Amino acid sequence: MHVPGDASSMSFASHGTSRKRTQVAIVGAGPAGLMLSHLLALAGIESVVFESRSRAEVEATLRAGVLEQTTVDLLVETGVGERMLRQGSIHQGIEIRFDGRGHRIALSELTGGRAITLYAQHEVIRDLVAARLGAGGEILFDVGDLTVHEFDASRPFVRYRVEDRIETLACDYIAGCDGFHGACRRSVPDAARTEYEHVHPFGWFGILVEAPPYARELIYARHERGFSLVSTRSPDVQRLYLQCDPGDDVDNWPDARIWSELDTRLRTRADERLHRGRIFQKGIVQMRSFVVEPMRFGSLFLAGDAAHIVPPTGAKGLNLAVADVKVLADALIERYTSGSEDDLEHYSDVALARVWAAQQFSWWMTAMLHRFDDHDPWQQRMQRAELQRVADSRALQTALAESYVGRPLGNIDSGVARRAILVRQPADGAGSEARPA
Ligand SMILES: Cc1cc2nc3c(=O)[nH]c(=O)nc-3n(C[C@H](O)[C@H](O)[C@H](O)COP(=O)(O)OP(=O)(O)OC[C@H]3O[C@@H](n4cnc5c(N)ncnc54)[C@H](O)[C@@H]3O)c2cc1C
Repeated sequence: MHVPGDASSMSFASHGTSRKRTQVAIVGAGPAGLMLSHLLALAGIESVVFESRSRAEVEATLRAGVLEQTTVDLLVETGVGERMLRQGSIHQGIEIRFDGRGHRIALSELTGGRAITLYAQHEVIRDLVAARLGAGGEILFDVGDLTVHEFDASRPFVRYRVEDRIETLACDYIAGCDGFHGACRRSVPDAARTEYEHVHPFGWFGILVEAPPYARELIYARHERGFSLVSTRSPDVQRLYLQCDPGDDVDNWPDARIWSELDTRLRTRADERLHRGRIFQKGIVQMRSFVVEPMRFGSLFLAGDAAHIVPPTGAKGLNLAVADVKVLADALIERYTSGSEDDLEHYSDVALARVWAAQQFSWWMTAMLHRFDDHDPWQQRMQRAELQRVADSRALQTALAESYVGRPLGNIDSGVARRAILVRQPADGAGSEARPA
């Protein structure tokens, strides 16, 4: 049996990293890669993180913002939640709006006090980067041409370019946390992986606005002209989306058209109008559902968007990425402490159970809330009837709320998953307002 090496005893000077060997090479400094590196470091396991973009770019990319209770608890319990606790905004409910009427889903009341926290993904990234660098961790930014090798054998390594130099780093394991377009998944031979994909027939036109929040809680609105979402990133930056043609062009959407369309889709009264703010970013998000199976190939483990994509309707992408690496970190810790590979062998099955549950939830929310151009009047009636059933049924609202706030990591029937339980359920509900600074 190959016993993973003691990385620190094998270090040499080189241009990319001071090491020629590490225990875990992590590709990608997104939420998955950085959180994995952080969790491993807390257990005394060494890793090097490789990132193709600059630190400034990674820390400035605005993406997700809805953190499940499970993610929040993990950040807090591992010492990287302090700024989130001060600046994040806890939401105990969301609103589902259709036919011009809102219906509150009381997340906390329905889930024994669990809630979501609105805290922007790039802030999570900043906190994790600061924690890793502060603890002497290695993150190599601006690396180019990264490739992964021999992960089907016992001597995997990573090759990459730093400036004009090609470097290699040997390791025990490689974590492919390099997002949907990364190199790791594509390095696995086609015959060894099965990919499941569905491209949805619409996109989301997203804007970031300098304005105070539009609502106390997120609003998911279904209108005959299409879906829209009112979300927030901070007290000064708001995130609004509206369903659009996936082939549309941002140039077709001058500000006046965006506001008019949002007003139409969101209004509950004839004279209702969103307050205007400066729109400082516009973009179109493609809606895709994707899963690769398995998530392990020899000593290469995929995590986060590298292994799966969900449509953003369920706000699950970042949260799944964090859940994956918690399971992976625990399995690696088990490997390095007891020598047992059992948990690593179960990694893919345990992670995929949560992934498919999140896919189904995201699919349900997407199907229920979007306009489908090919729906006949019967299907339109069915969609409306389903929304009404959710509005009327505490049982359906509970199912929605449980999935939305995220199940505890141990809520999967598997030994590995049970050991992965890391959060205690909060005993009491948290307030809906932003916590005091
Ligand atoms: C507009 C938008 C809104 C979203 N909203 C939400 C939300 O509200 N809630 C939610 O949970 N999720 C949301 N998501 C999804 C969420 O942002 C992703 O699921 C999350 O970023 C996945 O994290 P990750 O670490 O797996 O991948 P990523 O964040 O994609 O990180 C991968 C990293 O790897 C790097 N990389 C890629 N290739 C290489 C290479 N060859 N070598 C080295 N580095 C490489 C990339 O530069 C990147 O930094 C949203 C996504 C978008 C686009």
